Amino acid sequence: MRKICILGSGYAGIFCAANLLADYDNKRKYEISIFDQNSSHQLLQQIQLVCANIKKPNDISFSIYDLMKDDIKFYKELVIGVNFDKQNIFTANNKEYDFDYVIIALGSSNAFFGIKGAKEYSQSFRSLDDAIKLQKKIQKIKDSNIVICGGGATGISLAGAISETSKENINITIIEAQSDILPGWNPKLVKTIKKFLINHKINLITNNPIIEVYPSSVLLGDGTIIENSLSIWTAGVKGSDVQIIPSIKKTRSNRIIVNKLSQIEGYNNAFAAGDISAFPLDNGQISPQLAQFAVRQAINIAKNILRKEKGEKMVEFYYEQQGSILSLGNRCIGMINGIIISGSLCQYVEDFLIDNYIKTIKNRGRGISSLAYEQDKFSQISSSLNFMITTAAKILSSN
Ligand SMILES: Cc1cc2nc3c(=O)[nH]c(=O)nc-3n(C[C@H](O)[C@H](O)[C@H](O)COP(=O)(O)OP(=O)(O)OC[C@H]3O[C@@H](n4cnc5c(N)ncnc54)[C@H](O)[C@@H]3O)c2cc1C
Repeated sequence: MRKICILGSGYAGIFCAANLLADYDNKRKYEISIFDQNSSHQLLQQIQLVCANIKKPNDISFSIYDLMKDDIKFYKELVIGVNFDKQNIFTANNKEYDFDYVIIALGSSNAFFGIKGAKEYSQSFRSLDDAIKLQKKIQKIKDSNIVICGGGATGISLAGAISETSKENINITIIEAQSDILPGWNPKLVKTIKKFLINHKINLITNNPIIEVYPSSVLLGDGTIIENSLSIWTAGVKGSDVQIIPSIKKTRSNRIIVNKLSQIEGYNNAFAAGDISAFPLDNGQISPQLAQFAVRQAINIAKNILRKEKGEKMVEFYYEQQGSILSLGNRCIGMINGIIISGSLCQYVEDFLIDNYIKTIKNRGRGISSLAYEQDKFSQISSSLNFMITTAAKILSSN
């Protein structure tokens, strides 16, 4: 049996496994193993809702065993490294596992850019555990300031969630080094989100980098000092650390450089997917660190491995962003096909996407979440119709 090892059970890892299993026969042909330090698949893009007590940890965390049943082998292990020459991976328990194919999908971790005190004095916000810790801390804070370091999607959605739900008089300040929040997002959408932040009395400081973080304040580039009870770090991410032998090309932010087939240079059986990968986009930039990118790239990798096994030609991955939705606590604001959506409609879209995401994993890649990302028109139209029917039914039943 051919051995396929998937490192990481996040969006990229789990979707890759689900799509490898799309054909039931593959269970007999391939031994698919997933390695993760956690035994659950966590919806990272919803952790701010746990932090704000809108969702419980169990609502966004799904046992790998339940999702994958006995179709795969799961190893709860901390992966230390991969040896391409020996074709094996090694873990913190001093164990080694052989592979015929490896998919590195270990996600990303905080980047502190050498800013003094950032690691020591700010609260991390990159995992469900972080969100649970943060939720406890926020509950204890009253009449005080919270500083969110970083005005990207993570920081903004966290600010929105805290402001929507905090009963106490908490002031939230978001600090962004660049000239505007949500760098790279559509300006019309950014304007709408800013309106939401202003209405929720969230302070925005832009064009002002953080120079140093202290136990109860932060120092900004223009000399301003902001006193606070809690600073939360969402200002930067880098690819997760994993030792690779022999060494390979990475970006400055520790992301693994891959080609259009998501392969690591020099190895046609080694792939990187999701946040840890630096995939070349047609516009000359590298891939965004987004769940929707991770999922679609993973589908392409799974299908290519199956194509290669059948002696067929692999197909390059093409990515175009299909809408964006930002969760802001009990609300969402998003943009689909250039049109801003907010209120209940946006919430239905978000709920629909998440429900179908889990269903698609359980159905081994067959479902709306895969169809919507297919490049043929028939799949896209059928997923849109399904969405419209489900949403209409939901709206009618809630009236
Ligand atoms: C608060 C927040 C909000 C977000 N909002 C959005 C959004 O609205 N839309 C969007 O598209 N994206 C959003 N994102 C980004 C999105 O969550 C990531 O792009 C996505 O999780 C990347 O998927 P991945 O599979 O590459 O990594 P992950 O989902 O991070 O999975 C990596 C997995 O690897 C495991 N792992 C890491 N290192 C090791 C190791 N050494 N050994 C064993 N296991 C290991 C981890 O436990 C984890 O399960 C958000 C992220 C955050 C934090």
